[in-house]
This record gives sequence, structure tokens and C-alpha cells, in this order.
Amino acid sequence: MRELAVFYCPKCGHYAYYQTSRHPLCPKCSGNVSMRMLRMYYTEFMKMTCEERDNYLADEMLKQNPSILQRISASHKRFNSRETIAQLCNVIMSLDAENKMLSDTVNWMHDTIWEMMRAQRAQSGQAKAMEECSASEELDEQAPQEEEAVKAGGM
Ligand SMILES: [Zn+2]
Repeated sequence: MRELAVFYCPKCGHYAYYQTSRHPLCPKCSGNVSMRMLRMYYTEFMKMTCEERDNYLADEMLKQNPSILQRISASHKRFNSRETIAQLCNVIMSLDAENKMLSDTVNWMHDTIWEMMRAQRAQSGQAKAMEECSASEELDEQAPQEEEAVKAGGM
């Protein structure tokens, strides 16, 4: 029987054991992503706790992505969770700011839509008033007043 090895997905972090001769695709990424083999005996990997495995794989994934490492800190070669957390906090803060901006935009759009609806309602009210005017000559003198009242309300 062939030797087993630990393979992990660089995209989602999923790991599994396969024969070293295999070139597995990540089952969680709909078979689009090639999994990478860890340079470690799978028996060693199995001896580690879940937390140790997570740390080891996180370390491995960071090594594969030098730009993340550079962004965290050029001087720190080792994985540093404190700095990663700080980095992630910054990302979250900028996302929050963006989110606030988007919700402000939504509020503004909401207000605008309400204004448009009010204007539209006022216009149809005006049209209705005009219809009523032509239907009855008695209302002829009241019509302009109503029209102005509607305009003033719409402003
Ligand atoms: Zn995956």
C-alpha cells in the first residue's frame, strides 16, 4: 500500500488524507481547486491537536501567499496572530465605514423615492382637481387655489 499524505486546500483550508501519488481537488470548492501536499508525515499531523493543525495549516497557507505576509509585517518571518488580528480589525473597520456609507446612500435613495412618490401623488391630485373643474363650472374659481396649495406642499 502506498504512503498517505496530508493535503490541504489553499482556498478554503479544508484538509484530508490521500495517497501521495494522487493529485486531489478540493471537494468543498466544487472540484476547482488543486489541493497541496503537506511536507510532513501524516502520522505526525494526526498526532497534533486540532488547534495545532489549524496553526500549522495557517502558517503553511501564509507561506504560499507572500503578499499577505508582507502586508502583515516585512520584518516578522513567523506567523503572528496578534498582528493578523490587528490587520483583520483594520479590514473590518474599513468595511464598517463602507457599510455606513452604503446605508447612508440607501437612506438618501429612500427619501428621494418618497419625495418622488409625494410629488407624483400631488400631480395626480392636481389632475383629478382639474378633471373635477371641467366637470363642474362652479369649481372653476377654486381650482387655481388648489393647484397652488399642492405646489406649495410639494416644495
Ligand atoms: Zn477548498
